[in-house]
Amino acid sequence: MILNITHLKNLERGLSLNNKMGKYLFVGCFPGPYEMGMANLGYQSVLKTVFDSPQWRVERLFTDTGIRTFEKSIPVAEADIVGLTLGFEIEIFSLVQLFMDSGLEVYANKRAENQPLVLVGGPLASLNPEIIAPFADIVFIGESEESLPDLLTAWEEAQDLDLSRQETLFYLSRFPGVYVPRFYFPMVKGSIFKGFEKVGGVPERIQKQRVDVSRFEVFSHIYTSQSFFKNMGLMEINRGCSYRCRFCAGGAIYRPLRQRPIEMVMKMIDNLEKFTSHLGIIGSDVLSHPQWEDIIKYAIKNAFTVNFSSLSAVTLSRRREYLSYLVKCGIKTLTLAPESGDAETRQYFGKGLDDEEWTDLIQNIFQSGIPKVKLYFMIGKAFHSAEKDLDFIHKLSRKINSKHQLSVSYSFLVPKPHTDLENMKSLSFLAWKKERELFETGLKKMKIRFSGESLRVAWIELLLARADRFLAQEIPNLMKQKNGLVFNQWKTVLKKMGREFDEWPRHPWEGDLYPWSIIDNHERRL
Ligand code: SF4
Repeated sequence: MILNITHLKNLERGLSLNNKMGKYLFVGCFPGPYEMGMANLGYQSVLKTVFDSPQWRVERLFTDTGIRTFEKSIPVAEADIVGLTLGFEIEIFSLVQLFMDSGLEVYANKRAENQPLVLVGGPLASLNPEIIAPFADIVFIGESEESLPDLLTAWEEAQDLDLSRQETLFYLSRFPGVYVPRFYFPMVKGSIFKGFEKVGGVPERIQKQRVDVSRFEVFSHIYTSQSFFKNMGLMEINRGCSYRCRFCAGGAIYRPLRQRPIEMVMKMIDNLEKFTSHLGIIGSDVLSHPQWEDIIKYAIKNAFTVNFSSLSAVTLSRRREYLSYLVKCGIKTLTLAPESGDAETRQYFGKGLDDEEWTDLIQNIFQSGIPKVKLYFMIGKAFHSAEKDLDFIHKLSRKINSKHQLSVSYSFLVPKPHTDLENMKSLSFLAWKKERELFETGLKKMKIRFSGESLRVAWIELLLARADRFLAQEIPNLMKQKNGLVFNQWKTVLKKMGREFDEWPRHPWEGDLYPWSIIDNHERRL
């Protein structure tokens, strides 16, 4: 369903992108609906960065607001640069759909001289740029806030020099963090990834970019009741994480932990206060901020209701005095992630707390006055069956007073590039299916409410997470036939490539080179 743009515009407050004139046009495509785009701080941050660049005007595009830009109904193909931030593998389908619908050539190497340059960044780009490679002229690796204005200026220079599309891309390819896939040719033999042949003069590997978060603010600029978070103003207080959970893609992308100074955080709160009384604090482990209490006191004093992106159970367990602040913030449900019911596996993953500490922590949370706790698990683990997760939940629930509520959310363990599990062999699809049945049946018996990820979507995520560009380039053909989630279509595609749909995603590569080895992820050693 296409939303009514005029109605949406009337409900927006804060930054008006329409008010900016500029020689060049940047279209920020969001690979999802309007409500999710407006709730995405990374997307809003890119819009603001481009808006602040002197020569640029910026417009938006969502999957449910039509095939022309949101602001002035311009065809996307008239943009100078089309930018996308991708968070998850599945969003590649939205990218392809957006391009097909809006008349933009999907494949980067077929785009004509006068078509916009497609620049893709975000977490997915920093995990495995090869699955974006067929569609992007440039993939930006790492955090872009500090580099994006300079990259736009470098593109302007290329225009002034009257460089061709190919020359422009070559010119930009030496810019830190810029990966131009067309200059790199992956070499694959069976299940061995043999590295890349390159055009002369481009970098050997692309160094992931990391920013100094104390140099700039990241908070919402456009507020609307139609956002998924309903008028909530978001601000990022830290980035990265001090823990090293083996499976965690977020930890691998954003390491090390960097905190924003309290003065900067307070200034962001002051800005948000002009537009909203709902505050969402974003960070991998928000409780780790050294002045967390001061931040919360300041927010409450400014009459905010406060929510959090995620809390680490280990940090909360060490700082239980923070529970009283969470109650004052009006938190009704706390989400924590044991991931596994087996203490040894949790230890191996890097999740710290033993069974007793978990029970103790959950009891403390309920005693503090927070009525609901949601526990997040990964199932389909090669380490142990879901029985152990159920045992853990069963023991916990027996100790909980009936007026309190425990619920569960689950997803499947998909090993991600750059994590310690990147080369792990996954369980089969059938084993995942059995695990899901076992887990859901056990939860139903215990009368515990739950929600979980779709098995099919998770398998496609597994398929794409460690894939190469040869597989990714088939996505537009699959989407033309029906949609990207039909298994039989994928089976045919993989068979033609000499890969088995049921087996290949489980352990795609032998050896220690992978498609994502093009990234120099120096943070991995920190
Ligand atoms: S604590 Fe959370 S964000 Fe940090 S590494 Fe572990 S799972 Fe990732």
